[in-house]
Amino acid sequence: MNAPDAVIALDAADRLAHKRSEFSLPDNTIYLDGNSLGPLPKCVKPAIDELVTDQWGADLIHSWNRHQWIDLPSLVGEKIAPLIGAAPNQVIACDSISVNLFKLLAAALKLNTSRSIVLSQTDNFPTDLYIAQGLSDLLGEQHCQLKQVAGSDLIANLDESVAVLLLTEVNFRTGELHDMRVITELAHSKGVLVIWDLAHSAGALPIELDQCQVDFAVGCGYKYFNGGPGAPAFVYVSQRHQPSLQQPLSGWMGHKAPFNFEPNYRQGKGITRLLSGTPNILSMVALDAALTVFDQLNMHHVRLKDLNLLSPSDPQRRGSHLAYSHDDGFAITQALIEHGVVVDFRAPNIIRFGLTPLTLSYQDIWQATQILTLIMREKLYCQPKYQRRQKVT
Ligand SMILES: *Cc1c(COP(=O)(O)O)cnc(C)c1O
Repeated sequence: MNAPDAVIALDAADRLAHKRSEFSLPDNTIYLDGNSLGPLPKCVKPAIDELVTDQWGADLIHSWNRHQWIDLPSLVGEKIAPLIGAAPNQVIACDSISVNLFKLLAAALKLNTSRSIVLSQTDNFPTDLYIAQGLSDLLGEQHCQLKQVAGSDLIANLDESVAVLLLTEVNFRTGELHDMRVITELAHSKGVLVIWDLAHSAGALPIELDQCQVDFAVGCGYKYFNGGPGAPAFVYVSQRHQPSLQQPLSGWMGHKAPFNFEPNYRQGKGITRLLSGTPNILSMVALDAALTVFDQLNMHHVRLKDLNLLSPSDPQRRGSHLAYSHDDGFAITQALIEHGVVVDFRAPNIIRFGLTPLTLSYQDIWQATQILTLIMREKLYCQPKYQRRQKVT
């Protein structure tokens, strides 16, 4: 099935088309799931080979210095920084989003002690809510009380009782995009600190953390940054909060002098105090290599390609994935996957099409829509084999 000329012309004019060859993708697969697990950049394999063979295998423990393993959280953080609009010394790669949110929420509450409410939205990604609930349980409601409201009620609830606003920029289900600049400004006008979760925006959209005066942010290494399964997350703390910031997971890697082995904790300089334990070097090296795909890349070009792909009702108000709900969403997802179109399903009934501009051509999207049309028209998804569920969906 050949795409129409208009679609072929879009690919011919695509200034990001060359990026696709930097990824290793299986044949006969249109991968629309880069928003859950980014595909493998080709440069990762040699980087991991070198790490295992020459560094770990030959230089052993000397590698911590010789190959800068000890500095990787900072070096990777500095690679991510320009992609999210952050000046140097504000971003570090470590742990998961969940763990980093725990650190940031606790630290932010400590900066705003006269208030206790953490405001978030009910359909935020569950881990964000769970972490706030766990912290509330630990500290007690007089110090940390989670208030979850519908997205449409956020502004009305943003008042002087709120200590911290915890939001995900692009909604993981619907793809809806919050206006970071407007919301952050409004929050600050009420004395509220803001933590942005960039899981579905970092690597997909231009982000201007510094310009928007954001206080704190977290983001994902394994989604649009293609760092591989379980890749380290990253954390951003604005320079202005760093001198007074105290986070509770005060492990030795965040100590001012870890190798002095002192009995008492002293906070490390600046953003390094966000570290807790030993970095996962295998994952960190994969993420470090994967980020080279973004060298010299203009995130506005990435965003434009994504926006021109389809005609959504309001492209300014969504991220880089499209969500459709259908009562048979699960079965449709399974049928698409079997036909070589890898998408994902989010309960109860949502099919997500992740449009990652670096790996997809316009013809891929066209093909995927042809396959979807076939599956829907012929009701192929009604076959019983598409109803079976696995542990990870
Ligand atoms: C994927 C995702 C996470 C993942 O959290 P981890 O702790 O890194 O597994 C967190 N928040 C959002 C919004 C996500 O989409």
